[in-house]
Amino acid sequence: MSAFANLDLFGGAACLDFANSLDARGTERPEEYLHTYADLVAWGRFAGVLDEPTARRLTGDHPEVLRTALGLREAIFQVFVAIGRGRDAPADALATVQARYAEAMAVARLAPGGDGFDWQFDADDPGRAWWPMAVSAVRLLTGGPLDRVKVCAAEAGCIGLFVDTSKNRSRRWCTMDGCGVDAKVKRQARRRAGSRS
Ligand SMILES: [Zn+2]
Repeated sequence: MSAFANLDLFGGAACLDFANSLDARGTERPEEYLHTYADLVAWGRFAGVLDEPTARRLTGDHPEVLRTALGLREAIFQVFVAIGRGRDAPADALATVQARYAEAMAVARLAPGGDGFDWQFDADDPGRAWWPMAVSAVRLLTGGPLDRVKVCAAEAGCIGLFVDTSKNRSRRWCTMDGCGVDAKVKRQARRRAGSRS
């Protein structure tokens, strides 16, 4: 079974999925999925930001790179949770995203990809495991849709981030079968409690 069997890619953007790889942030027991550099590479493969041959080449133990990646992840979280709550993004977190993006761009190459051109990375530098998320974050920040970035409405402290692509912008939870069900169960419990009193 994959180490990420319980992790849903509900973010709608690689940077938000990355932020969500620390799950249940607001609870007493946050769930960390990225303990080692190998986890980071495996997650990149799982999330589709690294292809199989690349993931296979990114071997070894790189605690410094993991620390950098997790610093970027935290900055991404701080920036987008603020945006999702209608607040100003913290300057220090924005500066971190900008710095990591600049590092990634220094080794990126513009090449045909997707519908036009896109940034590609050739080097097998260990940093490649996090470069795509820096690109994704700046893409979302500069191109949006920022008004669709939302924070999961679950009261239990999920704090999952996602881009709401629903037509009427009505999505409230990270996943309907996760926090959506929890919220429904709580609502029903409250209703039952209310009807007894
Ligand atoms: Zn949630």
